[in-house]
Amino acid sequence: MITKLTEFNHVLLKAYIKKGMTILDATLGNGYDTAFVRECLGESGQVIAMDVNEAAVIKAQEAWLTCKNVRCVHDGHEHVDEYVKEDTLDVAIYNLGYLPGSDKCLTTRLNTTLESLEKTMRLLKVGGVISMTFYVGHSQGKEEYDYIMPFLKQLPPKQYHVLLCQYANQSANAPTSVWIEKKS
Ligand code: SAH
Repeated sequence: MITKLTEFNHVLLKAYIKKGMTILDATLGNGYDTAFVRECLGESGQVIAMDVNEAAVIKAQEAWLTCKNVRCVHDGHEHVDEYVKEDTLDVAIYNLGYLPGSDKCLTTRLNTTLESLEKTMRLLKVGGVISMTFYVGHSQGKEEYDYIMPFLKQLPPKQYHVLLCQYANQSANAPTSVWIEKKS
């Protein structure tokens, strides 16, 4: 049974990911998404995982030390274009907000999230997808959602498909995901 939106996202990702793909985890955190997509890829392709939280990156670097196709980067995802070449990206995952139990100051923020999203949309191959999950229960998360959703809603349907995944019967603070597919 799928009870969590992040699990639902993994079902979509698993159906989409093929061997050899290049995948960005834009918010590494505890590394659950990185581990999941690495499992989908196996030895092929590449995962680039970014975070501004140095401790999280060091922990992930140690965990993936012997793994050739996972690169953990201590940098903000707004600099994604320094690590990923144009037209090479198949999938990008943003699990926004802050790491539970960690420093809340290290939350994602509208300006840098938007800068990163715009860059990722350019780096993405045609047919590539972006999964973005918003947490509106805190002020920065609400700000991201309130600005980025209208931006996504006005994207030309010939260029992007934007699918919205939302709980219909939970509190207004429940997370929301979007699945963005580049059509042309
Ligand atoms: N996907 C993670 C959860 C991510 S929580 C998991 O599976 O555990 C959000 C993460 O985004 C936090 O670790 C936070 O440090 C990170 N973050 C905040 N601002 C960022 C930025 N500008 N660039 C990259 N990561 C950022």
